[in-house]
Amino acid sequence: MKLSDTLTGEKREFKPAGDVVKIYVCGVTPYSASHVGHAMSYIVFDVLHRYLEYRGYKVRRVQNFTDIDDKLIDRALLQGMTVEELAGRFIDEYFEDMDALNVRKADEYPRATQEVPKIIEMIAGLVEKDFAYPSNGDVYFRVTKDPGYGKLSHRSIDSMRAGARVEPGVEKDHPMDFALWKGAKTGEPAWESPWGPGRPGWHIECSAMSLRYLGESIDIHGGGQDLVFPHHENEIAQSEAFTGVAPLARFWLHNGLLLKGDEKMSKSLGNLVSIREALQSFSSDAIRLSVLKSHYRGPGYYSDQALAENERALHRFRQALQAPVAAAGVSSKLDATIYRERFISAMDDDLNTPQALATLFDLARDINRDAEAGFDTDDAQALLRELGTEIFGLTFEGRQVEVGSDKAVEIQSLVDLRIALRSAKQFAEADSVRDDLAAMGVTLTDASGSTTWHLD
Ligand SMILES: [Zn+2]
Repeated sequence: MKLSDTLTGEKREFKPAGDVVKIYVCGVTPYSASHVGHAMSYIVFDVLHRYLEYRGYKVRRVQNFTDIDDKLIDRALLQGMTVEELAGRFIDEYFEDMDALNVRKADEYPRATQEVPKIIEMIAGLVEKDFAYPSNGDVYFRVTKDPGYGKLSHRSIDSMRAGARVEPGVEKDHPMDFALWKGAKTGEPAWESPWGPGRPGWHIECSAMSLRYLGESIDIHGGGQDLVFPHHENEIAQSEAFTGVAPLARFWLHNGLLLKGDEKMSKSLGNLVSIREALQSFSSDAIRLSVLKSHYRGPGYYSDQALAENERALHRFRQALQAPVAAAGVSSKLDATIYRERFISAMDDDLNTPQALATLFDLARDINRDAEAGFDTDDAQALLRELGTEIFGLTFEGRQVEVGSDKAVEIQSLVDLRIALRSAKQFAEADSVRDDLAAMGVTLTDASGSTTWHLD
């Protein structure tokens, strides 16, 4: 099995260093609802975890919560809550969202606020080795002491220095030095430390948690591409300087960003879609499919139209899985082994999910063809179900619309509108309503004078 590694820029053979594949994935800062960009990243690492297990590895995956930072402090103040209450609320929501997306739980979910002793131990160790220095209640990492600084993001300190922002009131030896510990400002949550009351910087949390839960060197460190610099660059610098052990991670896996139309999805562009909003209109299978359709390193694409297409594509899977057992009992000639091999060779090639997914669509098409011709397709159906559910985390369940829900009322009113238009012989308008319904994943059946509908 091959995986791409951001640090070396190579795609190379993956083997864990020990008996268990140790994976650390950077988690969310729980100050607002998780959005579909988060969904993309966690679905990617969920599929990686599932696939490694399928290939016979034991996996230990750790993912943190950054439950203290500036955004949390500001937002909690605005909402009249404590940071702890705000973080607690969005951590609960995060788990609900991930359950709804069928993302399996990591083995550990450490929280920064509960790891302060380990964080202080690391900072103290870095100060002792002169890799870090206190300054006015803060503590900074000294980047010029680390000759490897910049190796992950492939840039030099000099080139970074040119773009560095000078923060007022901060005394640092070098503009690229970054905070390990931030001295407390009035009213902020704070912990006691050898440098006075304060709180951990963002980057050091992940170094401390990875070290505490997985050890000095791990197999895979993952996260979104937007974390390569400075977050992961700084994690490497701190961890390797503290332990003296390199590499911190043998493979650095970064997923691409999710685009909406041609734009990056971001808070500043105001085009974020929360996971909850997405799940109101689309099934978890359709959302997972939109992630699997792109390679994890490239950008992902999110649009209502693509999601509606996914709902229709999923219908083909369900059709194949519901193909009846043939009365004659004549087995189909479909050779399940060939599809399995194709699926594995795609996934072994740096998790090529678009190609693996194409294999499943081929399999579904061939099952549908053979079932229609009267052959028994049991083995092929079992394989489709196994690969789809165990590795891709699909449920193959149609969407349920609760009777009386807003969605059901909306669909029914469009269906009624179309019936009215048709009886008024306004066929073009009626067809356009039908297209609107199709875009929502609704299939209509006109039979014996009445119209019924179901969601694909
Ligand atoms: Zn992190």
